[in-house]
Amino acid sequence: MEVLTRNHESWYLWQYTRHIAAHHWSLKQNQAMKIKQFRYAADNFSYLIYGRRTALAVDGGAVAEILAFLKTNHLELQYLTNTHMHPDHTLGNRELLEHSGAEWFDSHTFTEQPAIEIDGQPVQAFRTPGHTVDSITISAASALITGDTLFNGTVGNCFTGDLESFYESIKKLMAWPPETRIYAGHDYVFDSMAFARKLEPHNTAIDTYLETYDPDHVYSRLADELQINPYLRFNTDSLQALLVQKGFPVETEYQRWQGIMALE
Ligand SMILES: [Zn+2]
Repeated sequence: MEVLTRNHESWYLWQYTRHIAAHHWSLKQNQAMKIKQFRYAADNFSYLIYGRRTALAVDGGAVAEILAFLKTNHLELQYLTNTHMHPDHTLGNRELLEHSGAEWFDSHTFTEQPAIEIDGQPVQAFRTPGHTVDSITISAASALITGDTLFNGTVGNCFTGDLESFYESIKKLMAWPPETRIYAGHDYVFDSMAFARKLEPHNTAIDTYLETYDPDHVYSRLADELQINPYLRFNTDSLQALLVQKGFPVETEYQRWQGIMALE
């Protein structure tokens, strides 16, 4: 009996040690993978997800800056992809591919891959249709690269006209841990905060978020979005009251989402 108990204990200890070791390993791995943001055109963003040796570019319009960064940091561009195929997101593809040995794949191909690896660490993508049918979100290093699906403070236009898919996509994004950083396809921070303030003049989280704005590193945490982005706030009293006042039905969450998407 004693032997059994001891074995039992040591089995648990072994499992626990394994668990902790795996946890530390994954933490170390997460810390090793990084994301670099590059601004191009008026308000577009490119991203590099990179490890110690290799990198994946997302919406690589900032071609010269990306190439310079790769060179300085002795990185090999292994992959290039796009959050969706709108021309302002794909305009750097040809030139970036010409100047690197990168392999390009479209957004849907990315979501169907088992997982792209950067220095042995998985970078995953999942479909978030709504802005366009082919829109994806890429997850790496405790962050989401959301393209034109979710911006800091607002959401993209629903070009597909399919508000239901868009709603499902937004719900999917809202389920990530609050500390998740949101890296968007454009810098629409000031316009979106002006609109948010119009809808919720007493929302002090808007001012708090604006105080942290840095044009060289534009992002939010999901927790910020839940406080400042009206399109994620369809369940708040203040926005429901506003929708009722404007004559929109508010019984279901989907109706409230539709209502907020219709506000001008
Ligand atoms: Zn777009």
